[in-house]
Amino acid sequence: MPQLEIKNLHVNIEDKEILKGLSLTIKQGEVHAIMGPNGTGKSTLAYTLMGHPNYTVTDGEVLLDGENVLEMEPDERSRAGIFLAFQYPVAIPGVTVANFLRSAINSRRRAANPEDKGMPIPEFRKMLKEKMDMLKMDHSFAGRYLNDGFSGGEKKRAEILQMAALKPRFAVLDETDSGLDIDALRIVSEGVNALSGSELGVLVITHYQRLLNYIKPQFVHVMMGGRIVESGGPDLALHLEEQGYDWLREKELSSE
Ligand code: ADP
Ligand code: MG
Repeated sequence: MPQLEIKNLHVNIEDKEILKGLSLTIKQGEVHAIMGPNGTGKSTLAYTLMGHPNYTVTDGEVLLDGENVLEMEPDERSRAGIFLAFQYPVAIPGVTVANFLRSAINSRRRAANPEDKGMPIPEFRKMLKEKMDMLKMDHSFAGRYLNDGFSGGEKKRAEILQMAALKPRFAVLDETDSGLDIDALRIVSEGVNALSGSELGVLVITHYQRLLNYIKPQFVHVMMGGRIVESGGPDLALHLEEQGYDWLREKELSSE
């Protein structure tokens, strides 16, 4: 069974240790959520998984089917089947959503086979239409310039469409509360719900408990002080909604 395995991960930003021994295994087909108070290192985990240069791994491993992800360049991670949101620049003037997706697909095909001529346009159009229908998106969206004046919801829509088109095996989505209005929340949730299944493992990192009213993860983890301090099923999210994080502080301290 393919899996993404994070083992005893320690990560520094500059000289400060932020992740302090984080371990988590996600199998293909599973939906996991990480929650936790601000500043506990949730985004640090996402940036580390995408290979951001400011995040230094000082110990631990990340393995995809036993292969060392931390040695891969960000584009190799993507080719290996890991989807990380915000992999595209803020705005690309003159490049439509469709152009962008087509070049992403083709560069991946060429990386696998240098002789590849790219996905034929009719096949690409058909695929894109199918994905947009599945995600209940208006077809005109494909003709918009990527991120040019996009609302928070539209950025999310582009991200989810990219995920649908690239068909990753594992997706990591860091949903910060900024820009996550109800519309964006619904788009991300419906997208994850439509795309998750036996082929896709998902890790949703959320600052916003309400997201879990829409996405139903099988596994919920609480992160505090750079580690997972509690794991459970969907009822853990409900418990946190009622009780907050205070009841876990002791665990955080005892693991220091
Ligand atoms: P979360 O996503 O859980 O809110 P982050 O991963 O963004 O947490 O941040 C974890 C910690 O790392 C915080 O204490 C934050 O102040 C610190 N941090 C984040 N980015 C930087 C940076 N560029 N330089 C120094 N410290 C940072
Ligand atoms: Mg964050």
